[in-house]
Parts: sequence; structure tokens; C-alpha cells
Amino acid sequence: MNNEHRENVCARFCSYYKPDKSMEPACLGFLVVQDLAGKDSLIKIPTPGTGQPDAAADCDLCEYCGYRAGDCDFAAGTEGAPPCGGLIVVRLLLQKGSITAAEVLDSARNLRHAADP
Ligand code: SF4
Repeated sequence: MNNEHRENVCARFCSYYKPDKSMEPACLGFLVVQDLAGKDSLIKIPTPGTGQPDAAADCDLCEYCGYRAGDCDFAAGTEGAPPCGGLIVVRLLLQKGSITAAEVLDSARNLRHAADP
């Protein structure tokens, strides 16, 4: 895990982030941000307060996340549960036009595939 991305994505945006706990494996939202930002240096991670993530700027990223089945309150539909920081950043980057939904889903599928035994 890239420590700079962990700081910029998890520490700044994720309500579930615990700095004293090992964050491996990370949620898929974070891994997709790390993957896409690593491939394209023009993708800049937004800073908090630069915009509100729009739920409409979404994709089916959670469908591929290993946390979806039982470890994510947002995916479970728990009232008031926010998405992970990675998904928030994905939404902000989608809104900004820095990435496309197709790129997000390609990355999610590839990362999921790579994680399969
Ligand atoms: S919101 Fe939950 S299911 Fe969706 S990517 Fe984040 S951790 Fe995974």
C-alpha cells in the first residue's frame, strides 16, 4: 500500500480508517484509486472540502469489493453509513472528469481477478 495514498485517501476521507491498525488488504475503492493514480500522474487526489461527492456520480464498484459481503455497512444499506474513503474519492474524481466509470470498473475487475486464488 502506498503510504502517501493511504494518507491522502484513507486518513482524510474514510470514516472507517484506523491509523493504528494494519490496513491490508484495503477496500477496493482505495485500491482502484491507487491503481488509476499510479497509471496516470495527471490524476490528482482531491482534498477534503473541495466538493461534495455526488451519489449519482457512481458506478458498480462495490459489486467487486471483498468487503461487500459482510464487512461494509454502506454496502449493506445501513442508514447513515457513509461509503469508504476510496469510494468517496472515486466519486469526486468521476465528477471532476479525471476518470471514467469504465476505467473504474476495468480496474475493479482486474484487481478482483488478481486477488482470486
Ligand atoms: S463502500 Fe464498502 S463495498 Fe464499496 S468499495 Fe468501499 S468498502 Fe468496498
